[in-house]
Amino acid sequence: MEETVSRNFIEQEIDRDLAEGVYDHVQTRFPPEPNGYLHIGHAKSILLNYGLAKEYGGKFNMRFDDTNPTKEKTEFVESILADVKWLGADFEDRLFFASDYFQTMYEKAVLLIKKGKAYVCDLTAEEIREYRGDFKTPGRESPYRNRSVEENLKLFEEMKEGKYPDGSKVLRGKIDMASPNINMRDPVLYRVAHQSHHNTGDQWCIYPMYDFAHPIEDAIEHITHSICTLEFEDHRPLYDWVVHECEFENPPRQIEFAKLYLTNVVTGKRYIKKLVEDGIVDGWDDPRLVSIAALRRRGYTPESIRTFVDLVGVAKANSSVDYALLEYCIREDLKLKKPRMMAILDPVKLVIDNYPEGRTEELEVPNNLENPELGSRTVTFGRELYIEREDFMEIPPRKYFRLFPGNEVRLMSAYFVTCTGCEKDADGNVTVVHATYDPETKSGSGFAGRKVKGTIHWVNAMDARQVECRLYENIVDEEKGKLNEDGTLNLNPNSLTILKKCYVEPALAQAKAYDSFQFVRNGYFCVDCKDSRPGEPVFNRIVSLKSSFKIQK
Ligand code: ATP
Ligand code: MG
Repeated sequence: MEETVSRNFIEQEIDRDLAEGVYDHVQTRFPPEPNGYLHIGHAKSILLNYGLAKEYGGKFNMRFDDTNPTKEKTEFVESILADVKWLGADFEDRLFFASDYFQTMYEKAVLLIKKGKAYVCDLTAEEIREYRGDFKTPGRESPYRNRSVEENLKLFEEMKEGKYPDGSKVLRGKIDMASPNINMRDPVLYRVAHQSHHNTGDQWCIYPMYDFAHPIEDAIEHITHSICTLEFEDHRPLYDWVVHECEFENPPRQIEFAKLYLTNVVTGKRYIKKLVEDGIVDGWDDPRLVSIAALRRRGYTPESIRTFVDLVGVAKANSSVDYALLEYCIREDLKLKKPRMMAILDPVKLVIDNYPEGRTEELEVPNNLENPELGSRTVTFGRELYIEREDFMEIPPRKYFRLFPGNEVRLMSAYFVTCTGCEKDADGNVTVVHATYDPETKSGSGFAGRKVKGTIHWVNAMDARQVECRLYENIVDEEKGKLNEDGTLNLNPNSLTILKKCYVEPALAQAKAYDSFQFVRNGYFCVDCKDSRPGEPVFNRIVSLKSSFKIQK
């Protein structure tokens, strides 16, 4: 794909800042809250921030925004770090925790009080909301707004010492109750919460609010460009107020971009959590989800996700990207890298009646016709094979070029065979297909005789290994409506198909977790990391081979 020469709007802003000397370097960060698993949207944020730092010879920080003690868990810290590393976003030794800055945040709050820019307020949460007004009504000033600096210092100190119960007092910025921007109407900066924190334990019983903590975290780390998503656009004046009033030199600036949404999948933490809790999916890494852990388990590669994020680009308006674009990216990534193996997902036996009983021969099969560097392998051929059930029809429709009585097809990398009939059980199901082969037609023998229209794949029944394969469809179908009337997800009942009796080439039995392959005609498959056992791999279908999706060049 051609590289685009036009620069996105964030790069243009950074270019200008550097040219005007606002900053002399670029430093970015990824600041997740450790309250869940990362998803494809976060991947976009990670790669954007990391990519910008790299592009400008700057630095990229990894920082946990762990200022809310109620929802955060170490499990999430670990999963997030694993995901960021897997994506290749190298933060070197710059791993930070916002909770390590609690002391500085506290000191900055004291500074604001001393400057007359913050006050302790005794209104309840409900009253604060009511006093705040709305888009049409200006806010009303709190009766506690004009407390003296001395009183505020004393009360804030007592809040810190644990004298007051949760919710009884907050520290608020003294900004402007009449501001058209509701975020500026004396926002809450600190609250009392008698809660243990995963990092600081019981050291604190006051915790900073996001809008106060985040700009301070950025400023402490000398972040230059604090990139976040559009919903924070209205918070930018508050961000600027905090870094200015807290007297940071070279304050960072916030730039917003649109969130990434994908069609036909579930990204909201709230919905995913429910699917996990209801047992509808097999954990946060269920291959039908688009958490990074799920994509990795399904067989997506970091390269494919990077390509996807690049193709999507950076936008200033929210939109949904077609899930098929993600599939296009993984197909393109694996196409030349992976061997093309033979695997039968829905088997029926094919008996070649004129092939000598007990005989086995070895055939050389190229691993990837489009990439000779992958070399070739040997597979065995014999009298009894497995083929796909759909590759035989007793009464074929028009334009069916596979096996039907009297028709000749090519067995991939082997011989031509002509179908002679089939056997059926009492219910009329085909149990065995019969054929004869032509020894003159061996693949690679230079045989230049007649042509056949169909080529089908096969495995040798004698040494094929039985494995489980799992096929996936989108978990919701957007066209049918993502939500039901009662607000629950409208789930696709066919999102998972488990095939327990698939036959694969024997070499595939040795495949390890995360190994991936093309199964000819059936798609790309990856060994499941959770449910496989040594010698008994379970294969997840990453993606089928074809799609109607066309990339616009
Ligand atoms: P979610 O509600 O989906 O869990 P979040 O915004 O609460 O997302 P955070 O951990 O707070 O998750 O976000 C970490 C970073 O990732 C933030 O900078 C946020 O803007 C960014 N981010 C989150 N979701 C997306 C998305 N869909 N597209 C791009 N960036 C995102
Ligand atoms: Mg969040």
